[in-house]
Amino acid sequence: MSLTMNITPPADLPEFLPGWVWLVGAGPGDPGLLTLHGVNALAQADVIVYDALVDERILSMAKPEAERIYAGKRGGKPSPKQQDISDRLVELANDGKRVLRLKGGDPFVFGRGGEEALTLVNAEIPFRIVPGITAGIGGMAYAGIPATHRDCNSAVTFVTGHSMTGEVPDNMDWKALANGAPVLIFYMAIKHIGRIVEKLMEAGRPADEPVGFIMAATTENQKVVTCTLETAVETAEQIKPPAIVCVGPVVDLREQLNWMSKVAELSASEAAE
Ligand code: SAH
Repeated sequence: MSLTMNITPPADLPEFLPGWVWLVGAGPGDPGLLTLHGVNALAQADVIVYDALVDERILSMAKPEAERIYAGKRGGKPSPKQQDISDRLVELANDGKRVLRLKGGDPFVFGRGGEEALTLVNAEIPFRIVPGITAGIGGMAYAGIPATHRDCNSAVTFVTGHSMTGEVPDNMDWKALANGAPVLIFYMAIKHIGRIVEKLMEAGRPADEPVGFIMAATTENQKVVTCTLETAVETAEQIKPPAIVCVGPVVDLREQLNWMSKVAELSASEAAE
């Protein structure tokens, strides 16, 4: 079934001026999670510089004549250097293009949007930031796990499992993290899950604490597996990046809040009709 939407977007969405760069978050995957500002940017951009995790259906909303430049990893080759990407944005803007820099999730959450924006500031290129739904929020929602829940936690912490050098961030105060943050949401953590679990347990997190892995969140390949800290390393064998890892009591709410299973049942029964 498809829906025809007869919606008029607000008339005062901004005009994308030539020579500007818009840094836009595409959300975690599902095109429905794109913002209206994101759609408005796609409708006007002359060139789109996009990352690996951006869905093809989102890119296809661009003007047909818009140039597309891929800036992610391809076929095992390393991704282009961050400075090269930032410099390219400057070059394109100086050529008078409307430059859309499209990133997975939110550009300012583990997305290097800050670095790119700083290069634009130094080059005196005007820019706009369009936030997106970050994987740690959207992915949790699609897994039926609230990031905060009144009975469980009054704080939530986003953590990267990957330092600049690709190692587990050893300069992080794991004790403070383990003691101070009731719910931890890790990005880029699959490769180092063993060290992360070890550090959390050394710092006092209990072995039976609930853990949720959310892989390819909000896409048709989404896979969610729950376990405990003690069994997290073996469970992670079933998970491939991109994935987020949630550690904390909120994970147990999935048992009751897994709304996606109802959606799947509904589509299965529709297909059978
Ligand atoms: N700016 C992005 C994060 C980029 S870092 C955001 O705000 O979401 C890349 C990491 O994000 C991945 O290693 C993974 O941990 C997470 N991620 C991105 N998309 C995801 C998805 N669809 N499902 C699960 N994790 C995702």
